[in-house]
Amino acid sequence: MSALAHDPNCLFCKIIAGQIPSKKVYEDAELLAFHDIHPWAPVHFLLIPKVHIPSMSQVQPEHSALLGRMMVLAPQLAAQEGCRPYPQGGFRVMVNTGDDGGQEVHHLHLHVIGGPRPWLKG
Ligand code: AMP
Ligand code: ZN
Repeated sequence: MSALAHDPNCLFCKIIAGQIPSKKVYEDAELLAFHDIHPWAPVHFLLIPKVHIPSMSQVQPEHSALLGRMMVLAPQLAAQEGCRPYPQGGFRVMVNTGDDGGQEVHHLHLHVIGGPRPWLKG
């Protein structure tokens, strides 16, 4: 299952395919970012690879460039979405992994959370 590029039962694969609507922040050939449906903070979006990787636990050396791109893109999109500059501003990047990690959707995703406090959570 983890080898599938697209999992027809996966919520985020359905968002990538346009079968479920999302409020898009960014899209290219490899990556998609969209607003979290239950935001914790003024800025809260999810950045995902288009390939179906269930979680960080399945990440392999061949994903290095893809994950690198996500880490480079996250601060650019955070600024674009209104996170104030470092160090007074900033943002949180979170990757919940597995049940103990609090993961609910099993398609690898970076939460990018920011904006002025107080936040609803976190
Ligand atoms: P996690 O607990 O890290 O797996 O987080 C999954 C996140 O996906 C949660 O913050 C949800 O609010 C969010 N989420 C679930 N369904 C949708 C959806 N249809 N569109 C946008 N975000 C969603
Ligand atoms: Zn998926």
